Amino acid sequence: MKTEKKAAPTIIVIFGGTGDLASRKLIPAFYNLYLDDRMADNFAIFGLGRSDFDDTSYRKDLYKKLKEFSRRDPDSKIWKKFEESIYYFKSDITNEKSYQDLHSKLDNLDKEWGERANRLFYLSVSPKFIDDITANLKNQKLVEELEKDRLVIEKPFGYDLESSIELNQLLRRTFDEKQIFRIDHYLGKETVQNILAFRFGNALFEPLWNRNYIDYVQITVAEKVGVGSRGGYYEGSGALRDMIQNHLLQILCMVAMEAPISADAEEIRNRKVEVLRAIRRIKPDEVSKNAVRGQYSAGWVEGEKVPGYREEEGVSETSNTETYAAIKFFIDNWRWQNVPFYLRTGKRMQEKSSSITIQFRPVPHAAFPGEQSNNIMPNKLTINLQPQMDIRLRFMTKKPGLEMNLNPSEMVFDYDSCSTHTPEAYETLLLDAMLGDTTLFMRSDQVEEAWDVIKTVQEAWDSRESINFPNYQAGSYGPENAEALIAQQGHVWSINVPGKKEKKQEEC
Ligand code: NAP
Repeated sequence: MKTEKKAAPTIIVIFGGTGDLASRKLIPAFYNLYLDDRMADNFAIFGLGRSDFDDTSYRKDLYKKLKEFSRRDPDSKIWKKFEESIYYFKSDITNEKSYQDLHSKLDNLDKEWGERANRLFYLSVSPKFIDDITANLKNQKLVEELEKDRLVIEKPFGYDLESSIELNQLLRRTFDEKQIFRIDHYLGKETVQNILAFRFGNALFEPLWNRNYIDYVQITVAEKVGVGSRGGYYEGSGALRDMIQNHLLQILCMVAMEAPISADAEEIRNRKVEVLRAIRRIKPDEVSKNAVRGQYSAGWVEGEKVPGYREEEGVSETSNTETYAAIKFFIDNWRWQNVPFYLRTGKRMQEKSSSITIQFRPVPHAAFPGEQSNNIMPNKLTINLQPQMDIRLRFMTKKPGLEMNLNPSEMVFDYDSCSTHTPEAYETLLLDAMLGDTTLFMRSDQVEEAWDVIKTVQEAWDSRESINFPNYQAGSYGPENAEALIAQQGHVWSINVPGKKEKKQEEC
């Protein structure tokens, strides 16, 4: 792995260049890479769409959005230089002729630069266009170079196991697996990548990282927002497909994987897919014992009344789509036998918070006087992924004083205290895609295996309407039966209120 990464000459073609993702995430990410001198000296970005723009008006529109969405305030002089490499290409994806025109534009740039540049085709459009785009790229010979031409696609990667297999077969008609970059933006997050540094860059934790010392693991991705204007899309998806199948299972893989022998992309992806293979499949008649679904009703968020899911735009009044999912998984291998991994995600929750909790086992024997033994809280490691970004290790200490009083204390690594800036996930991922490094991208077998992991739950929920939807209030911690799901084992969900200390912890 290189330490100072800089892209080779690349032409980036964004299908859906006028869309939300392009203006909110992709262009700001390329601009920030440019500021950090990570873009090649020769690069070009072609934004494709049917909207009525020319180069000038397109650049102007992107700059307006950049001011809103870039993590760093844009500098107008630097932007002026940057925008010279951005072009608008008005075209309809389904029109074969436009691919011929695109071909000559890319060839012209190659001639001007005196070399065949790398080509990155970014599909920031509805998945229904994947077939058309890949077929046209192939027919018009736009992707002839195995080492230089790449495809980036966004989730959803299929709708279920069968459709994901079909999608992978379709992509392989045009591209080799190593040319395909399936984005799961969670994997580009600084805090998620840090899981590997934390686990495999320290000798301290790895000996404890197993069933002998860890009681259970929780992974939470809670959102405060509702579905907003994405109701139409979300109706065909739901929390299980939209979040658990990809983001949460990928985080689980990073927590549970074996140590890789190198930083090679395939090595790391092999270790992750082994975890997915080892996850015990939930039997159809055990779904209700291992999984809980929820849907939010109207409620209050930050003092504002918000509608229930069924009242949102584009959502059916009798919708069966879950906006909350909690699942208990077990991993059948030596390291993790019988350690529950609890995954939960929901919209319209009380707090926006993504975190991993590693709950260690209690001490085997407490030798402290009187009630002090009862005060001992098991060690807990919390990795906060967003918006709070830190790692917290809870351990017991003696409260200063003449008596032996025990008190939980915390050691904290806080990203805010680091002087270096934290890149956005898309910056990391786009740079890696330009470099051809697939480590942080999902391989076809990972995607298919993840669909297989949730298959029985998804089939049970699709086929049986929930009788109690909506079953949690907007602004709450989710449905009550999610508590019961983990209480069976005597466990409780960690409540992670940013900046606040644990209830039982006293000031020293
Ligand atoms: P969007 O705002 O609806 O944009 C859709 C884009 O597709 C527009 O640029 C539109 O251009 C273009 N388009 C549609 N039909 C076309 C046609 N026949 N020919 C040429 N261009 C056409 O969608 P988005 O939110 O950017 O999302 C894009 C993809 O990324 C989707 O698959 C979505 O699931 C995925 N995604 C998005 C986000 C996000 O934060 N937005 C996050 C994760 C994944 P014109 O209207 O100019 O024709």
